Amino acid sequence: MAGTMQPVYERILMDAAQIAAVVDSLAERIDRSYAACEPLLALVVLEGARRFADDLLSRMQHPVEPVFISTSSYHGGTHSAGIVKIVIPPALGKAIGGRHILLIDDIYDTGLTLSSLAEQIKQFAPASLKTCVLLEKKTPHKKPLRVDFLGFTVEDTFVVGYGLDYRNQYRDLPFIAALRKDLTTG
Ligand code: 5GP
Ligand code: MG
Repeated sequence: MAGTMQPVYERILMDAAQIAAVVDSLAERIDRSYAACEPLLALVVLEGARRFADDLLSRMQHPVEPVFISTSSYHGGTHSAGIVKIVIPPALGKAIGGRHILLIDDIYDTGLTLSSLAEQIKQFAPASLKTCVLLEKKTPHKKPLRVDFLGFTVEDTFVVGYGLDYRNQYRDLPFIAALRKDLTTG
């Protein structure tokens, strides 16, 4: 098969320049919306949102304390299993109380991940809670929620790149692309 390597993606949806421009404008909007507030506590949902959050937080002027949390609903597949494993440990819960919280995730798909996290965060009585998401999928959300800062809207297809993986691959692509359908097993 030498010389016939096909790309893993069907097409590029957002190239690196488009992503950078959107991340810049999100950083500006977030800075403006918190101008008079205390330092933010940013809760970043791993693994997918790590790269987005690194870029976003480094472009912001407002002081931010990042905290990384793990959840997983895909279990290596390409369709949400509907199982959301949330880890907000008690110590983090204590840190949330009275603070301005920015919840950062990569994708708003079914909405299960973000709404479950948001519900938990609220129980720890933050001063405020806002959400920032790089991509919203055009799909009927099972758990609709308000996204305060949204990067892009994409069609309902499985995407990889810019931190987003398929079975822990393709995170390093500098753009966001639709994964080739024949590579997904459902
Ligand atoms: P939700 O709970 O909204 O259904 O799923 C959100 C999570 O599923 C996202 O945080 C993301 O990690 C993962 N996810 C949803 N759609 C995609 C996709 O197209 N590509 C990748 N790599 N992950 C996705
Ligand atoms: Mg995720």
